[in-house]
Amino acid sequence: MKILVVDDSISQAMLLTGILRQAGYANIVEAHDAAAALNTLENGVGRDGDPDVDLILMDIVMPGMDGIEATKRLKADERFRDVPVIMVTVRDEVASLERALEAGANDYISKPVNRLELCARVRSVLRLKEEIDRRKARERELEALTERLEQLSNQDGLTSVSNRRRFEEVYEKEWLRAKRDGSPLSLLMIDIDCFKAFNDTYGHLRGDCCLKAVAEAICIVLKRPGDFVARFGGEEFVVILPGTGEAGALVIAEDIRENVRSLDIEHATSLAAERVTVSIGVASLIPRADLTAKSLLQASDAALYQAKSNGRDRVEKREVP
Ligand code: GH3
Ligand code: MG
Ligand code: MG
Repeated sequence: MKILVVDDSISQAMLLTGILRQAGYANIVEAHDAAAALNTLENGVGRDGDPDVDLILMDIVMPGMDGIEATKRLKADERFRDVPVIMVTVRDEVASLERALEAGANDYISKPVNRLELCARVRSVLRLKEEIDRRKARERELEALTERLEQLSNQDGLTSVSNRRRFEEVYEKEWLRAKRDGSPLSLLMIDIDCFKAFNDTYGHLRGDCCLKAVAEAICIVLKRPGDFVARFGGEEFVVILPGTGEAGALVIAEDIRENVRSLDIEHATSLAAERVTVSIGVASLIPRADLTAKSLLQASDAALYQAKSNGRDRVEKREVP
């Protein structure tokens, strides 16, 4: 563990460093004024945001910024708050010692320094620091895990696009936003053609691969940051296009249909073509108070139904009644 010795007296600093080295602490750095100490701390901050110093031995009386002010500053800094500080003080500095403890110092030791006492204090404070570090690491692990779980709970396990649950959340938000801004909102309902026959012909595993490929083919077409795709269920996907009116939505839908076709996945038993294709229902509107979010969803679904009955592998649109 790394120890920073701060003392304006070079000989005093050497004395402390010497004792600690003898006691087996190899990683010790010295600073001869408070500014240099803060600099050393700053320079040692790693990529994880943590400083590499584990303990500071801080002289109280120093020219310029004194040890108390320096302690106050570093305890006010989130990054250095958990670095323990042991004050080094002469016996008649009781009043300033009190201020030092108030400033956040963890412990103190009197000058002239007793070797055994110094080592005992350093050992116990370092043990505490180790415990704090361990707890911090555990907290970080937990945070990362929580984030991953949240991500997983929003994701479709097979295709890695968002799942239905996430769609409901995003759609609700986009609907309200479009209503507030008076901006257009479009939905595409996308369904793989004759997918049951695909599974029956090529098996479920290839069916799963096909679903993944179609999901990717949809994602590639969506370029705006607000565009959103989710697996709606089975072999159906839904796309939200905020700020996009009917004309734009039809272009995107056509691009998706083309892109899926150009995957060129064989589908000998399809009624639409000899390769995997999708049918897409498009609906657009500017949300009004007398309409519900459901109405747009239903319209896109009705348009999809239309595309299916018109022969599949096509895009159809439907007005919201
Ligand atoms: P249409 O062109 O009218 O949409 O016909 P379809 O066969 O695609 O539609 P239908 O709803 O009858 O069948 C959907 C099929 O999608 C049923 C099921 O076998 C398949 N399917 C749904 N989810 C999955 C999945 O996760 N993996 C695989 N491999 N197949 C799935
Ligand atoms: Mg289908
Ligand atoms: Mg379906």
